[in-house]
Amino acid sequence: MPDGPFPAVPGLTLPPIGGAARPGLCTDCGVSRIGDGKACGRACQFIAPDYPAREVEVHGRVADPGQGEEAFFGVTRRMLRARMTKPLPGAQWTGITTALAGRLLETGAVSAVIATAPDPEDRWKPVPAIVTEPAALAGVRGMRMGFGPLLAALEPAAAAGHRRIAVVGIPCQIHALRALEAELGFERIYVIGTPCSDNTTTENFHHFLAQIDPRPERISYLEFRADYRVELRYDDGRPGRTVPFLKLPLSKLPADFFPMTCRTCVDYTNRLADITVGYMGGDGDQWVIARNARGEEVLGLLSDALTLTPLTDRGKRAGAVTGFLANVARAAGGLPLRSMPDWARPIVAFLQPRIGPRGLEFARARVEMKAIETVLHLRRAFPARMKNMVPEHVWRLVAPYGLRPEAEERREGE
Ligand SMILES: Cc1cc2nc3c(=O)[nH]c(=O)nc-3n(C[C@H](O)[C@H](O)[C@H](O)COP(=O)(O)OP(=O)(O)OC[C@H]3O[C@@H](n4cnc5c(N)ncnc54)[C@H](O)[C@@H]3O)c2cc1C
Ligand code: SF4
Ligand code: SF4
Repeated sequence: MPDGPFPAVPGLTLPPIGGAARPGLCTDCGVSRIGDGKACGRACQFIAPDYPAREVEVHGRVADPGQGEEAFFGVTRRMLRARMTKPLPGAQWTGITTALAGRLLETGAVSAVIATAPDPEDRWKPVPAIVTEPAALAGVRGMRMGFGPLLAALEPAAAAGHRRIAVVGIPCQIHALRALEAELGFERIYVIGTPCSDNTTTENFHHFLAQIDPRPERISYLEFRADYRVELRYDDGRPGRTVPFLKLPLSKLPADFFPMTCRTCVDYTNRLADITVGYMGGDGDQWVIARNARGEEVLGLLSDALTLTPLTDRGKRAGAVTGFLANVARAAGGLPLRSMPDWARPIVAFLQPRIGPRGLEFARARVEMKAIETVLHLRRAFPARMKNMVPEHVWRLVAPYGLRPEAEERREGE
């Protein structure tokens, strides 16, 4: 297979992708573009996900809400706060995700990694890539905002003869991958997942960048950090800067800025990955959850390159989550969000990182907030989908805040 047009790096291919996304609730994970295009009904997170069944297949058991942090983050064997001792250039955080994939290639555990590269014409647009050389993983580091049909790269990877692969993906992609894994014909798939929230189309994201910077085309990096600030970096020599969340022009964004898919998504922490690599429980570092033996195996390959520090857990989330629920309820009901007076913003922006939840408590808060959004937005926009789409783990997360399923919102037998 010839290498793709960009980057001209040996071992990185951008395969041609055909087909189309589906109308309606669809994040274009790639399934509609492969096979006969009819697998979505079996695979889709937005149709009838069966997390307990998938967890048993992948991890050997369902998440146990009485055990450790599993009620919030899913099946966990080991949870770490970590960073690459030598951070990798171009990485979103320190590059643990691509370094894990690199070790799988180096040791011959896999012959290809399916990941997401920047489009040659637009660095923020995600496109699927097949990587066969460890050095070429530099071409897929970093985060793109948008929907890339990752799983459409499985067919060309299989056609190129790859039998043992790794897949790096976000939760809606990994749910579909796991649902179809048995029928895909690969000998082994290592799944390295990242958490995901508040994604939007690349087009919308460009609109957002234009609101926060006079030269948005020169923004090379953006991250919503766990210290309540957005970090921006530039490729035109300007020093990077951070902006408190509260000073972002979020109220100026159109109401449909965040698509209904990402407002009603049912998995924040990538519960079906072998290993999840994020930041939100990392309190400034990265946050790693090895979920099963395969996840431990991958993590073990990188242990010499990681610096570990104890997990932190500070503050109380209940007030922040309750306030969030009130705001979402207003927005989901079509009412305008209460906007904070301008004079109060710097004060709250100063206080938030100091008194707001940090470390694991921050991650629990974010997981609960996302579950609240799912229930409230789905109830308003697609009530008939509640029964099949909202898994038990989401109902458990929202119960402390008074949200419970109505009779018609439960699957039969539950
Ligand atoms: C839209 C989005 C929202 C996210 N939200 C959160 C969050 O709320 N909390 C949290 O803890 N983490 C979140 N993450 C994950 C986080 O941004 C980092 O990717 C993660 O911490 C890994 O950092 P790293 O340095 O190890 O990654 P790197 O080594 O730089 O690798 C990042 C990998 O992410 C993949 N990727 C990049 N863009 C996309 C995309 N659009 N779709 C699918 N895969 C992509 C690429 O394959 C790439 O190899 C989000 C990621 C995305 C894509
Ligand atoms: S399985 Fe993927 S392609 Fe199919 S509808 Fe769902 S998100 Fe879209
Ligand atoms: S928020 Fe959920 S639905 Fe949206 S891209 Fe991320 S994992 Fe997919």
